[in-house]
Amino acid sequence: MELSQQDITYLKGVGTKRAEMLRKELNVHTALDLLYIFPYKYIDRSKFYKIRDISDEDTYVQIIGEVLDWNTLGVGKAQRLSARFTDGEDEIELVWFKGTQYLNLQRGVRYLLFGKPSLFNHHWNIAHPELQPFDKVNPTTLRGLEPHYNTSEKMKSGLLNSKAMMNIMAGLMPELEKGLPETLSADLLSKYHLMNLTESLKNIHFPADVPHMQKARERLKFEELFYIQLQILRQMRSRQLNSEGFRMPRVGHSFNDFYFNHLPFQLTGAQKRVIREIQADLKSGQQMNRLLQGDVGSGKTLVALMCCLLAKDNGYQACVMAPTEILANQHFQTVSSMLSGTDVSVTLLTGSTTKKQREKIHAGLLRGDIDLLIGTHALIEDVVQFQNLGLVVIDEQHRFGVAQRAKLWAKNINPPHVLVMTATPIPRTLAMTVYGDLSVSVIDELPPGRKPIQTFHYSNQRRDAINNFLRQQIRAGRQVYVVYPLIEENKKMDLIDLENGYRYMTEQFPECRVSMVHGKMRASDKDAEMQRFASGETQILVATTVIEVGVNVPNASVMVVENAERFGLSQLHQLRGRVGRGADQSYCILLTRVELSKETRQRMDIMVATNDGFRIAEADLQLRGPGDLEGTQQSGLPFELHIASLSTDGQLLEVARQAAKDIIDDDPNLDAPANYIYRQRLDQLTLRAIDWSAIS
Ligand code: ADP
Ligand code: MG
Repeated sequence: MELSQQDITYLKGVGTKRAEMLRKELNVHTALDLLYIFPYKYIDRSKFYKIRDISDEDTYVQIIGEVLDWNTLGVGKAQRLSARFTDGEDEIELVWFKGTQYLNLQRGVRYLLFGKPSLFNHHWNIAHPELQPFDKVNPTTLRGLEPHYNTSEKMKSGLLNSKAMMNIMAGLMPELEKGLPETLSADLLSKYHLMNLTESLKNIHFPADVPHMQKARERLKFEELFYIQLQILRQMRSRQLNSEGFRMPRVGHSFNDFYFNHLPFQLTGAQKRVIREIQADLKSGQQMNRLLQGDVGSGKTLVALMCCLLAKDNGYQACVMAPTEILANQHFQTVSSMLSGTDVSVTLLTGSTTKKQREKIHAGLLRGDIDLLIGTHALIEDVVQFQNLGLVVIDEQHRFGVAQRAKLWAKNINPPHVLVMTATPIPRTLAMTVYGDLSVSVIDELPPGRKPIQTFHYSNQRRDAINNFLRQQIRAGRQVYVVYPLIEENKKMDLIDLENGYRYMTEQFPECRVSMVHGKMRASDKDAEMQRFASGETQILVATTVIEVGVNVPNASVMVVENAERFGLSQLHQLRGRVGRGADQSYCILLTRVELSKETRQRMDIMVATNDGFRIAEADLQLRGPGDLEGTQQSGLPFELHIASLSTDGQLLEVARQAAKDIIDDDPNLDAPANYIYRQRLDQLTLRAIDWSAIS
């Protein structure tokens, strides 16, 4: 029977209970699924240590020697068994805190000791080592790299630990001798010098040596990334082929009137280029799905507005969806002031819109009286109906994944054109996966006259000096943001911090007016405070991260971030982007406590070193590493990643994408006999992905 058909229950070392656990915990159903559960590390069991060569905590060592003596120490719960072990030259202590009744230590027996040393009172010891009489050790154990598997708590409690997993895998190895059907064509294997599937699966579990293990990993990573790309590109292509888009070929009065008579400044070259790219999509007859990346302050709003004008010129309505009410408000204000004196009608719809107003807006949208609707996305997504919606702009949403977008597309038989604008530049690997189904435009140029923001990192003990600096700035007519972290888990304390901060600033700056804004305030109060700051009535704004995205007050020149160690890189970059929007030199001051972890220090150093959002986004992904992958998954990768990593396998991902693209370009539906292999594997993977979401 093929491994892909073989139920795990009947495999050696599995049985009903463990099979159930493997299904539930790992979504493993067939023998083949099981082979795709890969080790997360290997331990070299061909190597033996001398006690005096032990130098690292937390790496496994293997020593041959004898037990000298042992005794039980402590009482009750604190009881433990301690033994002295020697390799003939030096001694090391072995400790057991439980399970001592199963130990049967004997003097004069040659043991193989295996465990993780740790340093205690300047002496090495090993807690709960494996200790086996050497002549009973299975020689295959010692032949090389031993695989270690991640197992959940539930699995461990069901006696399905890493070792049991290894034994099950070992039982499967003979099955591989027959060879497995390939999942990559012979062409691909030779073109990219990849190991074949059977060899790769053998070597990923029980590597012949390190180079074989590396080749196996490379092949399996490639396969994973390749199929993700193939799926994304196939969907993208089929959407392009099947979903007709509204045709918007005209550049008419609204666009031209705005461009020639109302534009407050010259567009940057990058803005012009991006508008042309979008325009080409709009007139192509195919539905647009485009991601607009541009660093904070690069002028994405204006680009969006001009695209909305194109929609109007072609008889369509447009809407702009923002993630927060503050931002929706602000867009509305900027846009309506830019559009004053034109014939374009703009309306705002947010949570604060009254029921009566809302009814009026709904009617206006249906009649087609409203050209452009600006609002928060929850509101627009669900209830609102348009007469003729042609373009949707989604602003500042870097987690608007494939799934959410699919919801928009499903709304209408003829879906509107979609432009997603991101708050923070997206690392290339994410752009190719989570956003891999979108075309990408980049604004890589800031409006002229901007001075790069200067960033400083201080310990919060330097407050007096900083206050003097703030005072200077305020006297020169500038304004200042002071931002505090606020997280759900710690909300109470954080709000107290914020309020203390507010009080502190009012005391330190009696000559100034201070505003305070946080997410718990009523929307109307929040707006009123924001407005006071935006109009210059208050000089200092003490706030939580509600101001993180999009807020635009060009006269503000200093961003002070309190407890900066609690913010992630992309958040810090966003916050910094609130200043440097006018002609004045701007500053970002990151305050942290004195003692910092290495990772935090690196984060601060990167912020000080660069203003380049792309570099920061890459560094962010590197620093946060695989921990972030879960979040990525939720925003919609077609299949889970078992072995490849979006933070470290960027290059391989590029190669895999190209390989997938070559295939899809030739044969979008994978109809050709040569591509049957891919189609079949995609079906298999899709089935697994569905299973998975059904249980989780
Ligand atoms: P973001 O890309 O972060 O959304 P905004 O659209 O908010 O940036 O633009 C930031 C600021 O730059 C705004 O004050 C906007 O009016 C201004 N701006 C946009 N384009 C230009 C330009 N071509 N020349 C000068 N200022 C511009
Ligand atoms: Mg913006």
